[in-house]
Amino acid sequence: MKSFLSTPIHTLTLFLTLTLLSCTSDELINLRLAKDRVKDYYESGKYDEDLGEIYSKAKSQIEKIKIKNNSTAIFDVDDTALSNYQISKRLDFGFDYQIVQDWVMSAKLPAIKQTLDFYNYLKSKGIKLIFLTGRQTEEYDATYRNLVEQGYRDFDTIIVRSERERKIGAAEFKSQKRKELTEKGYEIIICVGDQWTDLEGDYTGLIVKLPNYLYEID
Ligand SMILES: [Mg+2]
Repeated sequence: MKSFLSTPIHTLTLFLTLTLLSCTSDELINLRLAKDRVKDYYESGKYDEDLGEIYSKAKSQIEKIKIKNNSTAIFDVDDTALSNYQISKRLDFGFDYQIVQDWVMSAKLPAIKQTLDFYNYLKSKGIKLIFLTGRQTEEYDATYRNLVEQGYRDFDTIIVRSERERKIGAAEFKSQKRKELTEKGYEIIICVGDQWTDLEGDYTGLIVKLPNYLYEID
């Protein structure tokens, strides 16, 4: 058997190159496989299980808080209150502005059941409920109808982005709105969202971060 040292130099170079390449490809996942893993996460029950755990932890934290007349919970809309999973899957986990826009305007997004249960739990405790979304003014009516038809009732308001707020980053827009609500007298005790930009900044109270493996907003 030939020793390693007697291996011709070009064979050794090829061996090292392949070794390096295989190291690199270990860190990459084929896109098809990545999509299958995401699909499995959402459809196998793991997503539901994670939401269950997150909300049960949130409930035990809420139980420790003294609720006042102005205690308020803030909910994001997309992939927090309402699910975009079906449209995302239909687009093979890609994005098409017009198709997504039509989907939003259809007002047919299903509620995320665990969020609706948590929302109703907060409502039963007399906590005020507000939706704060990056959706825009022209989407307000569809958003309102969709939320109510899916069972989100008795909220104080839905805050959407106005024309002049379109260019502000998501985190800045949302923290500015929370500040304004606080100045109006709401005391935010909990903030629920699927993006970190829903939860960064001041006036959040408890933070409840839901998983989202479909997209990221910055
Ligand atoms: Mg969202």
